[in-house]
Amino acid sequence: MSYDWLAPSRAQFSRLSAQLPHALLVTGEPGMGKHILAMEMVASLLCDETQLNQGFRQACGRCKNCIMFESGNHPDFHYVSSERHVDSGKSDESAHLEYAERYLEAFEKRGKRKPRKVISVDQIRALIDNFSLSNHSASYKVALIEPAEAMNISASNALLKLLEEPSPDSILMLVCNDTSRLPMTVRSRCIALSIDAPTITQVMSWLKSQGVNESNARKALAICGGSPLIALAYSHSEETVNFETLLVTMAAILNEDAGAIESREILVKLGAPAVLLSWLQMVINWLINAVQCRAYQGEAPWQAYNRAFAKLSRKLKPASLPALFQLYDDLLLMKKQDVDVVNPAMLLDKWLIAFAQRLG
Ligand SMILES: [Zn+2]
Repeated sequence: MSYDWLAPSRAQFSRLSAQLPHALLVTGEPGMGKHILAMEMVASLLCDETQLNQGFRQACGRCKNCIMFESGNHPDFHYVSSERHVDSGKSDESAHLEYAERYLEAFEKRGKRKPRKVISVDQIRALIDNFSLSNHSASYKVALIEPAEAMNISASNALLKLLEEPSPDSILMLVCNDTSRLPMTVRSRCIALSIDAPTITQVMSWLKSQGVNESNARKALAICGGSPLIALAYSHSEETVNFETLLVTMAAILNEDAGAIESREILVKLGAPAVLLSWLQMVINWLINAVQCRAYQGEAPWQAYNRAFAKLSRKLKPASLPALFQLYDDLLLMKKQDVDVVNPAMLLDKWLIAFAQRLG
């Protein structure tokens, strides 16, 4: 089995297997492999001939149920997701889109409207109907709801029926990025299974096994704060290059009078507004850490090993801290506004001018 850092969570699932709860809540930071773990558990529950591997009952991949599951045709597996989640094409989930489509409006019928972000009450009602039928082929009926926080209030309320009166031999799995957005009534009825962040050494060696060289792995990890799957995606994309350019341009802006318009333009064009916003937030956060560590003679954060970041952070002194906090708060405020509606380039530009004036 790959994804070694999932081993403790797999072991936890095995311990639960003796008396399997009706509902599991899989949590962890984005990019930690929640979907992969959930699918491994689903496969394990459907398989007729599981094999013990490092304490985990792994699906055999050969029996009738395994073959049906992999081909996207297993009648006892239900995958409820949002249009937005499915359309965003999170790479590792593509093999299971056939399942998600059963619970979504047919693509041809959607017309030109935007993909919906929510999991609706109708989807949950359809799931309840299907769960009331007897099993077709496997010992369990399994439903995966992902991302669970996409359920709106009516959907969550409808799900309570399944959580409170579970049908026999059925297991619900909720995959959630942000449990604070899940109603307590739902959370409290699930057994939590969380994925712990892997160590940097674990991620580095995993990225290496995926064919990423050390230098790219370090750059990608600096962006992703230790999320292995996101780091892998970054290391194969232009985004690491763009992120380096962002760091270099931020340093250049601090050297110029109020940040020359050319530099600001370069930066604003580096990515989608939402991406830029989270990158800037991350960089300011790192800068705060770096300046604080220097002020208290602590150990530099590991981002400091990224040369472009080191160059940027050297420009700042302990006296810059209040300005950094203010800039961070301004980013939070911007994030709350709907960047799709307001002019995002203008907002970012205004922020960059403030960045240059307060820190330059
Ligand atoms: Zn099998």
